[in-house]
Amino acid sequence: MTDMIIEKARKETRTLLTEIEAKQLLKNAGINVVDTRLAASKEQSVAIAKEIGFPVVLKIASADVVHKSDAGGVKLGLKTAAQVGKAYDDIMKSIKAAFPNAKIEGVSVQGMARPGVEVIIGMSKDAQFGPVLMFGLGGVLVEILKDVSFRIVPLVKRDAREMIREIKGFPLLQGYRGSEPVDVENLENILLKVSEFIEKTPEVKELDLNPIFAYKDGAVAVDARVILENA
Ligand code: ADP
Ligand code: MG
Repeated sequence: MTDMIIEKARKETRTLLTEIEAKQLLKNAGINVVDTRLAASKEQSVAIAKEIGFPVVLKIASADVVHKSDAGGVKLGLKTAAQVGKAYDDIMKSIKAAFPNAKIEGVSVQGMARPGVEVIIGMSKDAQFGPVLMFGLGGVLVEILKDVSFRIVPLVKRDAREMIREIKGFPLLQGYRGSEPVDVENLENILLKVSEFIEKTPEVKELDLNPIFAYKDGAVAVDARVILENA
């Protein structure tokens, strides 16, 4: 399955996997992702939304759009068939305006995950050290404060433990001003699984799980980005 997805991208001479493909790879690696399906038309997006159950999220599905929400390609919290239909049209309109030449597969349809503490896990390759994993809290904490930690792949249990605890924002994961503590052990397991996946899949050049929603019990990745090495 993983090989097939990579092979398909190679055949199409692209290095960016779609969100759906990236999530499939991670799911195969044992990482919990929001169930995400491709709809090639407006009618299909409504049909899939009904199957998944409202509220749903629609996102542009295109290997030419790296940052989906920047381009108006993400619509959250859609509660009815009519809202899904309108979101489909709005996404297509925005993307065609922002990227007139993008090859569009359709939209991804996925359940709206319940809110959690947003964390991110990333992988990039260092010229000297090879694959390196990054962990941080999502949103502004990463973008502005760069509150992140790094470890070289392969990670051992202790690396995963430490890298979560050494970010400045760690207290936010322990429960802050009445918010519930999150399942840190589950995040450690995700880090270890990502490390394993990267070791086994050298074709992956960059990876981003941004964000993962962390809960009192478990966690789920709602977005995934994978960039492949040039063949
Ligand atoms: P981008 O390509 O812009 O990173 P994302 O898929 O990360 O797009 O979506 C943007 C934001 O929308 C996320 O950071 C997250 O807060 C929210 N989001 C995305 N998918 C879901 C989902 N399935 N359930 C709930 N919130 C979501
Ligand atoms: Mg994202």
